[in-house]
Amino acid sequence: MFETNRMKRIIFLLFSSLALVSSAQQNHCATEFSAAQWQQLRAIQQQIDTNPEFMKKKAMQYVPVKFHIIGNSKGVGYYSIHQLLETICELNQKYTPVGFHFYIADSVSYINDNDLYNGSADAIWNYASDFKLNGAVNVFFHGAGMQWCGVYFGGVDVVFIKNSCQGPNATTLTHELGHFFGLPHTFSGWEGGDAPPSSDIEKIDGSNCRTAGDGFCDTKADYVSQRWSCPLPWNLTDPNNVVFKPDSSIYMSYSSDNCQSRFSTEQMQAMNSNLNSRGWAKPSADLRSLIAPQKQFPTPGDTGINALHVPLKWNAVEGAFAYHVQVARFGDWNYLNYDELVYNTATTIKLFGNWEYAWRVRAITQANTCSNFGVVDTFTTRELPLGQTELFFQNEVQIYPNPVRAGEQVLVRTKEPSQLTIFNELGQTEMEFSNPINGEFSFEMPCPGLYFIALKTAHTSMVKRLLVTQN
Ligand SMILES: [Zn+2]
Repeated sequence: MFETNRMKRIIFLLFSSLALVSSAQQNHCATEFSAAQWQQLRAIQQQIDTNPEFMKKKAMQYVPVKFHIIGNSKGVGYYSIHQLLETICELNQKYTPVGFHFYIADSVSYINDNDLYNGSADAIWNYASDFKLNGAVNVFFHGAGMQWCGVYFGGVDVVFIKNSCQGPNATTLTHELGHFFGLPHTFSGWEGGDAPPSSDIEKIDGSNCRTAGDGFCDTKADYVSQRWSCPLPWNLTDPNNVVFKPDSSIYMSYSSDNCQSRFSTEQMQAMNSNLNSRGWAKPSADLRSLIAPQKQFPTPGDTGINALHVPLKWNAVEGAFAYHVQVARFGDWNYLNYDELVYNTATTIKLFGNWEYAWRVRAITQANTCSNFGVVDTFTTRELPLGQTELFFQNEVQIYPNPVRAGEQVLVRTKEPSQLTIFNELGQTEMEFSNPINGEFSFEMPCPGLYFIALKTAHTSMVKRLLVTQN
């Protein structure tokens, strides 16, 4: 442990001094390559020299990704679900030539933490790994801070992306995942803006392509370590006095997002080798574009919905991993009042009173987040005092403790005879109870995770979350 921590510290010091050097620029990405990563890459590049077919794409591989959305300590500033799902769709298009298809490994997690939200390198080094899902790529979206748009922290093996840098058609996540799978920048050695020793400057004729720059022979020489629009507005000169412009199409360069469109063949071979050594990929996944669910409640045109208690319900779709639910005033999908992934078929939300809202639902699989929404329906809210049943559910169902440690007793207290079902994140039933004793259900949850507790009475039903942490 001591060794690991010391290693982390050393790498961090390197990182922070470099971050200081380049802080005057709007830096794209603060990732630095460790000696061990270079060693690994050199070994792969030697393999490519020996066997040009080494680790070339054969069939698609399905790669698990755990997404973490960070807000500040008040839970403000989350990366939006609709943008996340669009980002995953775009990412999978960009990685098709590589042979990687990313899928959501687990439910999308939310973390409320000021330091992680601000992208504090110290916080990332010290405790980002506490949130990691093993056996998956861990990607964190955060809202503010630092100069960089994205960073791969090799020591903790996590990717951090600033929300504003990953909108529609952005390539930040594509670039950072390139680092994650072992790729350096095309302008390697020039990070920070100073020229490396002349022996490390890649020549245009390819004569030193294995030992200079990124070590790939099918990526052109590149000396530009700041963001640039394509084509580069000025010329570069190599050690043989050849004047040239760098290749703007490579994701691992710092050209603008709209210039980038590809990884080179050797880069893709290196990424496949890296994934292979991690051993995480699956050979198949459910790629179906699911049909949208039928909505159950509110009924279309309902004008009497209590704004403080809006139950949304729909039918289950076979094979659905989650449902993407959106509610918008005026039906303007750019201004959403609700935009969430729901892992079962109902949720209850609060809205403003006396407005017409539109809502829509779509079903997604873990590997296909690009399905279409179903029909749009509208309902109108009213400002009403909560009814008796609603009050009961707002105030009189108690779950504690919540979060609870694995193996410890959970109490659910109700006032009405009810039936209780516990679902896991996949919507599978874990436990079922009926007839509480003295108004109480008590049980133990053996395994950590996020669960959903559904309570049904003669009058209505509701769902609450239960978080079970490591013992
Ligand atoms: Zn980078």
